[in-house]
Amino acid sequence: MSAQIIDGKKIAEDIRAEVKRDAAAFTAAHGFPPGLAFILVGDNPASQSYVRSKGKACAELGFHSVTETMPTDTSEADVLRKIEEFNQDRYIHGILVQLPLPKQINEQNVIQAIDPHKDVDGFHPFNVGQLVIGEETLFPCTPAGIQELLVRSGNDPSGKHVVVVGRSNIVGKPIANILLQKKPGANAVVTIAHTGTKDLTLYTKSADILIAAIGRAKAITREMVREGVVVIDVGINRIEDPSSPKGSRLVGDVDFNSVAPIAKAITPVPGGVGPMTIAMLMKNTLKAAERQEASRKA
Ligand code: NDP
Repeated sequence: MSAQIIDGKKIAEDIRAEVKRDAAAFTAAHGFPPGLAFILVGDNPASQSYVRSKGKACAELGFHSVTETMPTDTSEADVLRKIEEFNQDRYIHGILVQLPLPKQINEQNVIQAIDPHKDVDGFHPFNVGQLVIGEETLFPCTPAGIQELLVRSGNDPSGKHVVVVGRSNIVGKPIANILLQKKPGANAVVTIAHTGTKDLTLYTKSADILIAAIGRAKAITREMVREGVVVIDVGINRIEDPSSPKGSRLVGDVDFNSVAPIAKAITPVPGGVGPMTIAMLMKNTLKAAERQEASRKA
């Protein structure tokens, strides 16, 4: 059997094209574009690079964007003040504080200061709660992207046994809750595994769809899955590779080479889940903008 390789790059491009089209319609209707504000505290090169990529996506898709760069020793109060400024700004519909934050700043205080309607990361407890009770809301970007990958690649999770390995607030818990919803493109039977799981293979082998969000290179091997499984590999791990010019390369949480030959479908790393995150951030920002402007009229 030869697995379907789920092309996240292509699916993300399709979503970006749809968002660009709909953002143009929003701009034509309101006279201003959807707006997204980034707050970047400190000089972490990975965070700088993420914010640059997101800013570039805004420019490409016709969004207004503002980046507020703050020094590493910024106080929590100053970050909260900046958030409040963006909360009050009519032309900013989404606020993204790039994580992680320097240690003097409490992450939860920051997340909770963002107006939930502008919380395009979907991390505010209000939005987490809305998701859990099955109400319409802004979903976290990477998990929302995983659902899109499944549905758009023809691997609808409805009625399937989905096993999620990992229970972080960013990936594991939200994707489990998204796929559990009694809605189209969800309605799955969901199991969540973690470090407290005694016999991980017992669960992974029973998965129709396996979502690996572990953060350990090649942790899922061929012996741990059944033939015909659909695999979504969220992991991004850098491993040494003397044969690569950089001396290292990126791999997922799944041992792609051993699992792909028996899988029905699988996402590659890179080029699977990774490109979906920014596409879904843009989709969330447009959704937030549409909802904010609609509620002004109501
Ligand atoms: P976390 O480290 O926050 O969570 C990892 C989870 O995996 C934890 O719940 C942990 O369990 C569980 N886990 C770790 N080891 C094992 C094990 N041996 N058996 C079973 N469960 C285990 O990571 P994230 O969720 O933030 O990220 C996961 C991966 O996804 C990382 O590689 C990250 O880089 C990548 N990622 C990719 C994104 C993308 O855009 N593609 C976006 C976000 C993350 P416990 O809770 O018990 O400790």
